[in-house]
Amino acid sequence: MFVPGLIERKRDGGVLASGEFRELMDAYAAGALPDYQMAALLMAIFLKGLTREETAALLDGMMASGSRLDFSSLGRPVIDKHSTGGVGDKVSLILAPLAAACGIAVPMMSGRGLGHTGGTLDKLESIPGFRTNLSLKETQAQIERIGCAMIGQTPEIAPVDKKIYALRDVTATVECVPLIAASIMSKKLAEGLTGLVLDVKQGSGAFITDPERSLLLARTMIELGADHGCPTVALLTAMDRPLGRACGNALEAEEAIMGLRSEGPEDLHEVTIALGIEMLILAGEKDRAKARKRLEDALKSGKAAEAFQKIIEAQGGNPACVDDPSLLPQAEEVEVYYARKAGTVLRVEPRAIGRAVVEMGGGRRKVEDVVDPTVGFVITARPGQQVHASEPLASIFAKDPAGIELGRRALDAAIEIGAGKAAPLPLVAARVTAKGVEKPAAS
Ligand code: URA
Repeated sequence: MFVPGLIERKRDGGVLASGEFRELMDAYAAGALPDYQMAALLMAIFLKGLTREETAALLDGMMASGSRLDFSSLGRPVIDKHSTGGVGDKVSLILAPLAAACGIAVPMMSGRGLGHTGGTLDKLESIPGFRTNLSLKETQAQIERIGCAMIGQTPEIAPVDKKIYALRDVTATVECVPLIAASIMSKKLAEGLTGLVLDVKQGSGAFITDPERSLLLARTMIELGADHGCPTVALLTAMDRPLGRACGNALEAEEAIMGLRSEGPEDLHEVTIALGIEMLILAGEKDRAKARKRLEDALKSGKAAEAFQKIIEAQGGNPACVDDPSLLPQAEEVEVYYARKAGTVLRVEPRAIGRAVVEMGGGRRKVEDVVDPTVGFVITARPGQQVHASEPLASIFAKDPAGIELGRRALDAAIEIGAGKAAPLPLVAARVTAKGVEKPAAS
């Protein structure tokens, strides 16, 4: 394999053969391909794109670098949900135990905060003692025992993706549809799933802000899922404002616990239920209304909250925080933020909020940064809401007065109040399957 020739071909808009991708991935996994060559190839891919066959070959090479979970003897549907990432997106913390309470095996593999977006692992780790670094063997055993495990990418799963992802993060090659699709699916397909639900975020707080490209991302992942016998469905959901009210790790864990008791914000509930319905349909439920009722019943009966307690206990955390969220870490400083003027809330800009959480210490600027779980916001202002001057719109949670000041400035920039009309995106804009794009089904 003459690597400069392959990079050159891709740079000039040519196509690489499946075998060439496989060799490249194998060499990179083995440490035989230096980062600088992989970085150059990634940039060529970023600029020229990949064909469907090339994307599939890249995915296969990534998957081949690691192991897979095997639930073939479980006799139950094995389904996961993946979100492309956003601000205030704590759906996984509710949905994994909820789906498990409805009889689905859920190997939920998630990531850490990335850029302005939060990460499920950081939210889970705000629960005192919670361990997300289970081995593949522990994960398999826990799912067989209690139906769900909530973990990070283990060293055994698609290790070459992990290496490539780290390189993309520092070479400005993250926002590339085929690279994102292959990266996400290399991990999801290694979970041994019988179905996958994708929550593809749209709007200014999403990684991919262009609606055409977010649809392309959904379609690409659905095709890759189908290639591997894993039926995959995507919902396109709104990320032009934070989801729910809480943004910040422990605050989001607390809001997720409220959601598990059906006491959370309406938008969070609706997105969770919409994704849950898709999981149940993939698991064999024929009737969408029945699927909704099963999910609502599991929340109201306390079964979903109980499932979360079991997961927390199994992973070393303190399950008592489900009954008493005050056991979650609490911020040193709290300040209420008031409307600067009267008018209509035109926008609550998620990127500004997400960035502020990172700057306040709730996310990472460098890989080795330690996350402060306590900081963030609870924002009650919603686009379209009429507010009067000095009405409380949010609370800021920080570790010191400087953090409060940072939070105040971020809210000044993020919450736009004016005389016009708010035009938020629909909460669930579309359902995408292998058959095409539909308006979301009523249920
Ligand atoms: N999440 C992933 O796992 N990979 C990407 O490329 C982007 C988001």
